[in-house]
Amino acid sequence: MFPQIITYLLTLINYQEQVIRTLLTLLIGKSMFEEPKETPVNKPYRKLQVDDLPIIEQPEKLDYKALLKEFQEAKGKPLKPVQRRKNSTPVPMSMNCPKCGAPSDYLYANNGGKGQYQCKVCECLFNAKSRYHKELILKCPHCSKSLEKIKERKDFNVFKCKNNECSYYKSKINGLSRKEKKQFKKDPQAFKVRYIYREFHIDFQPLSKDSPKKPKVDLSKIYVSSHTLGLILTYHVNYGLSARKTAALMKDVHGIAISHQTILNYEKSVAVTLKPYVDYYPYELSDQFCGDETYIRVNGRWHYLFFFFDAVKKIILSYPVSPNRDTVSAIQAIDEVLVKMKEIPENLTFVVDGNPIYLLAQHFFAQHDISFDIKQVIGLTNEDPVSEEFRPLKQIIERLNRTFKGNYRSTHGFGSEQGSVAFVTLFVAYFNFLRPHSSLEGKVPVVIPELEHIANMPARWTKLIDLSQQWILEQTA
Ligand SMILES: [Zn+2]
Ligand SMILES: [Zn+2]
Repeated sequence: MFPQIITYLLTLINYQEQVIRTLLTLLIGKSMFEEPKETPVNKPYRKLQVDDLPIIEQPEKLDYKALLKEFQEAKGKPLKPVQRRKNSTPVPMSMNCPKCGAPSDYLYANNGGKGQYQCKVCECLFNAKSRYHKELILKCPHCSKSLEKIKERKDFNVFKCKNNECSYYKSKINGLSRKEKKQFKKDPQAFKVRYIYREFHIDFQPLSKDSPKKPKVDLSKIYVSSHTLGLILTYHVNYGLSARKTAALMKDVHGIAISHQTILNYEKSVAVTLKPYVDYYPYELSDQFCGDETYIRVNGRWHYLFFFFDAVKKIILSYPVSPNRDTVSAIQAIDEVLVKMKEIPENLTFVVDGNPIYLLAQHFFAQHDISFDIKQVIGLTNEDPVSEEFRPLKQIIERLNRTFKGNYRSTHGFGSEQGSVAFVTLFVAYFNFLRPHSSLEGKVPVVIPELEHIANMPARWTKLIDLSQQWILEQTA
């Protein structure tokens, strides 16, 4: 087709859309159109190529005390500390051997003032700057050469393989077209041709969740009967009616006058009460997990809600809300899953979308000796074998997201952070403990015996609230 015609048509469509919007705005009022401008739904994530993990070598650690004892047994006399001549370079008292931990008394200052040392106990050679690298060696997974640190950023250091014989580098260079090669000569920085690794040093200790704390809410401030509260939760959370519709239904059907704001306030208190129970429940888990992000409004802005979910047991394990779709949020979301495991399974797999933040999160955990596989299902069609194999799992979480959005849509536009986060917590409690699942033969994902024989949903909500209050008292006693 002629490009001019397409341009003309697009302009026309844009113009028509504007006219329609203007008309609708006049008809409905402008509030409806406040949000779409910054709708993040199709915002692409930053294209970032994340390479494979490096080879992380932890050099053999020795114990100088054991070595000194061995020496004593073999030679029949102790190994003496280094005797220093008057004019020899001093060794700082705080310096010790990175390999065996021998104190400064056993260290030679090797080549006068250049900062090289040698340990008399284990013979390890090192210098003050490379100390750290004696503790952990990072090597290129393609050529096994040591990586070089090239940048220090706020959250991570960047390491690069500078080996010109590296197979990664060679295949990247050979893969350039003639035109690209010309460009590459002019501006090599514009191309990523070398293996890169980001070593995270963000202030986050994995698997360090505290024990549950008693929530500071007083449910006795809820001035409706527990049955009424159960009804409200059933309409609002299970059936996804808006707080306003729930209030109207309470009035019209049950003859109970309650404002939609009071409903939201009550739900906040219930969510705070249920959250420790939901988060610390001893779930029985599989080793297949999937994660996805969806969007919710917090304080009038779009935020990301990260869902991580046991794909086999259908249990939601992690649901942090963050203003950013970044690596730190992905790390937190995955950590929330990991802390719920009795031990980390060997074949642990997370199925996620193509966002590179999950690979960076994987690298972060690998640095802390926690390893798992990340399978990325990319795009809408199966163009690679991984996408083909794991798409069914991805679709499971997409269905979960649709269920959530179905229930959330009506309630969307919370006034406060707690408002929307409270709804998410209630949704997770409902999903894990109260909602029958067709693929689980109509059972709820987590069967609590005390709830099983209760005849109706409002009574089940009431019992769930009771159970979590009881549980938190036992845990914090
Ligand atoms: Zn040593
Ligand atoms: Zn290399």
